[in-house]
Amino acid sequence: MTIPVGVSSCVLGEKVRFDGGHKLSRFIADELGRHFRFVAICPEMAIGMGTPRPTIRLVGHPDRPRVQGTKDLALDVTDQLNAFTQQTLPKLANLCGYILCAKSPTCGMERVRVYRENGDGLGKVGVGVYAKALMAFYPNLPVEEDGRLHDPLLRENFVMRVMAYHQWQQLKAKGLTTSDLMAFHRQHKFLLLAHNQPLYRQLGPLIASASKDDVMAVAEQYIGRFMAALKHPASKKDHANTLMHLQGFFKKVLSGAEKQELASLIDDYRQGLVPLMAPLTLINHHLRLHPVPYLAEQSYLHPYPADLKLRYGL
Ligand code: SF4
Repeated sequence: MTIPVGVSSCVLGEKVRFDGGHKLSRFIADELGRHFRFVAICPEMAIGMGTPRPTIRLVGHPDRPRVQGTKDLALDVTDQLNAFTQQTLPKLANLCGYILCAKSPTCGMERVRVYRENGDGLGKVGVGVYAKALMAFYPNLPVEEDGRLHDPLLRENFVMRVMAYHQWQQLKAKGLTTSDLMAFHRQHKFLLLAHNQPLYRQLGPLIASASKDDVMAVAEQYIGRFMAALKHPASKKDHANTLMHLQGFFKKVLSGAEKQELASLIDDYRQGLVPLMAPLTLINHHLRLHPVPYLAEQSYLHPYPADLKLRYGL
């Protein structure tokens, strides 16, 4: 599988940082690299700053800072970075996700330090100029930072969003139809239920209203709300409720003891005694023995490649 995902070059181990170093993440380069085709971009190198280079930082109003030299106050690369960003972003429409390097005045997704013109710190209240433009240009694109991907919950959530968005991008590339839209909604039913149950019910009527003439307009509305919902990680309670929903599909084929076993496992998961993988493995086992086509296509049961072991930490 080759899923195109943008990445800050330094996170892949390229020696492009101001000090000639890198910020290699083994998880990103090696494990995600097995499934993602990375598009590595270093905006500071791309505008010719070279390496090693003078350090830069965000200066001025946090909403519209300049990017200036930390020591060399005459250095201002704001316009060059903005020009590069404007040229580059339209070329990235096929990406299904983006991994940014944290804290950078260029690539930082959040909590980047901002300074007043007199050098006083305003705190971690900024966003890197490239990162900010990227997220505004592609509001539905799953975006994460290298450091945050150490958190099992955020890691799982990011990869799950990339996989869902990849499927969406493929549908768009081939020309989305109303039946594609309905199938996408159906296949992601339990994923949506786990992340935002009320929204699942709202999106049904929205796609049902789509016609051949306005399918793209409805699809844009749909995917915006869908991706926003997935961004909020599901809680144990949400997952447990979704698992119970899935359990209901087997009530006629499981024995009393099997039902009890599954119910106990879901309860153990809810209490934090076993990971999400435990009840899901049992549900997948029952699904193999008692096939339910509607469940077999559910992304919730197989949201990403199993070798990433993302649900072991949930
Ligand atoms: S954070 Fe961004 S600009 Fe800085 S070295 Fe990494 S890729 Fe380049």
